[in-house]
Amino acid sequence: MSMLIKNGKLLTENGFETVDIFIENGKISKIGPQLSSDAEQIIEAEGKLVAPGLIDLHVHLREPGGEKKETIATGTLAAAKGGFTTVAAMPNTRPVPDSKAQMEWLQERIQETASIRVLPYASITVRELGQELTDFAELKEAGAFALTDDGVGVQSAGMMLKAMKKAAKLDIAIVAHCEDNTLINKGSLHEWKKAEELGINGIPSVCESVHIARDILLAEEAGCHYHVCHISTKESVRAVRDAKKYGIKVTAEVTPHHLLLCEDDILGNDANYKMNPPLRSKEDQEALMEGLLDGTIDFIATDHAPHTRQEKAEGIELAPFGIVGLETAFPLLYTNLVEKKMLTLKELVDFFTIKPAKAFGLPYGELKPGALADIVLIDLNQEEEINPDEFLSKGRNTPFAGWNCKGWPVMTIAKGKIIWEKGVGKV
Ligand SMILES: [Zn+2]
Repeated sequence: MSMLIKNGKLLTENGFETVDIFIENGKISKIGPQLSSDAEQIIEAEGKLVAPGLIDLHVHLREPGGEKKETIATGTLAAAKGGFTTVAAMPNTRPVPDSKAQMEWLQERIQETASIRVLPYASITVRELGQELTDFAELKEAGAFALTDDGVGVQSAGMMLKAMKKAAKLDIAIVAHCEDNTLINKGSLHEWKKAEELGINGIPSVCESVHIARDILLAEEAGCHYHVCHISTKESVRAVRDAKKYGIKVTAEVTPHHLLLCEDDILGNDANYKMNPPLRSKEDQEALMEGLLDGTIDFIATDHAPHTRQEKAEGIELAPFGIVGLETAFPLLYTNLVEKKMLTLKELVDFFTIKPAKAFGLPYGELKPGALADIVLIDLNQEEEINPDEFLSKGRNTPFAGWNCKGWPVMTIAKGKIIWEKGVGKV
């Protein structure tokens, strides 16, 4: 099987270059101007950005156990529509992938139903209960991409240190949702203006930053790769920045919503603004942008967290935490950061491709001969409104409905095969 993508706009250090990309047997074989070939399939990409397939290392596909919210099939199709060709699936499912048997079941399910590559996380502790470590060696062998108890923090420092030492030996990353349960304060929003205004309990910044500071010191002791999920406070950014200065092997991700919104943007008692960690203060939002620009924060991940309409209709206090993100991440950030000159297009693409790949040593995220043909074509010019009714995800829970965006993916190719095409849908 061969394919030729013609006249795509490739990003280079000096702007755009118009190139053709020749794909054979799922891999890129040539990139250059006006390639002649007898490809079986020809794709005209004139005027479209041609970029490596995007990578999102933080998504909740909800299967098994949460199929009303999302499945591996619907979540990966939503990802393909968003331009992603690789996602990493969080383990806070029911059951949790915390054993070899469960991981093998998950791998089989991914094989059967996913449209793009899914890297499964395994949990750090059995059932994510924080009581007993899982068998890391067995889980790694069964295909676990990294280890995390995302959804909850690992409360015991002793347990975390033990986990990190084991992970260091096996060369597998510890990925942390940082939240100290004694500081949550039964909160639903950031502990500040909005929570007070709505009479709702607030989650203080220290709830996150204290865990990050603790874990950084533990990671220094253990010598493992420690990754911070969805960083949200200025103190957290400072802690990670300091850790990097001292050569501690820590990486961090930030979500599109924490970059684009703060508590001042919350409209009324709408649970589409409820996520964990919560939208923080304007100062925090600015510190996250600064951290992203100076390399403290390594990449962007969506924390795609679908819920049903009924669940999210319960109001801020009762509804579950989380918003969807896969289908809106790139256009939102292109329109609100690149077009507003806060990031260059190259930086944005890198934060979704080579940066997450490098942080975890993955062989994806670059367009070059020999690489797997994971490619997205993006229309940077056409403007469209975000309409949750058009999502392929089962989740409609987004605070960005109605936002006008440019930079929409129009075709997603994974391993040389068209997975999704605008106007055609699943191919
Ligand atoms: Zn989390």
